[in-house]
Amino acid sequence: MTHDYQPEWDYNTVGPDQHLAAHVRATLTLLSRYHVYQSLGLSRPRIAYVNGELNRLAKYVDGTKTEPVIILDIKEIREGAKRYNLPLALVVETTIVHELAHAFEDSTGKDYSEKSAEEFAERFYHFREMSPRYAIPVSKAKRHPQKKQATTRTQVLGIVQRRQWK
Ligand SMILES: [Zn+2]
Repeated sequence: MTHDYQPEWDYNTVGPDQHLAAHVRATLTLLSRYHVYQSLGLSRPRIAYVNGELNRLAKYVDGTKTEPVIILDIKEIREGAKRYNLPLALVVETTIVHELAHAFEDSTGKDYSEKSAEEFAERFYHFREMSPRYAIPVSKAKRHPQKKQATTRTQVLGIVQRRQWK
């Protein structure tokens, strides 16, 4: 069961530019490979683009947790990368992961924390590892039922970390 939210209802969405879209695709694939969606109990997000409308890099649309909708501001992301002299790939990835953290907070009823979401994004970028705050029990993440299910955060993180180094 998912939602029928369309970003067009609230935003002037535009098509992505090809360069940015390539980084977005790479990020979504990377997150899948590291089982981030599964570990957060979220589905792959839907990405929409605006151009200079958000006054910030991105926004997770509240309430879309069943299929997280993330709005990326092309202008802000490009300017942010330039201003801080950061690779576009880094800005795109950390922005998406940050917003995904908010989707997770939304899905678990936690208050949004900018600090935690940012730590989560940075940690994943640098170490390809998730912070414990954002891991949920594997049983809730609908893992393969035949596999032995871990039930504690520590066990979940153990699994996530072992996979990362394969
Ligand atoms: Zn945030």
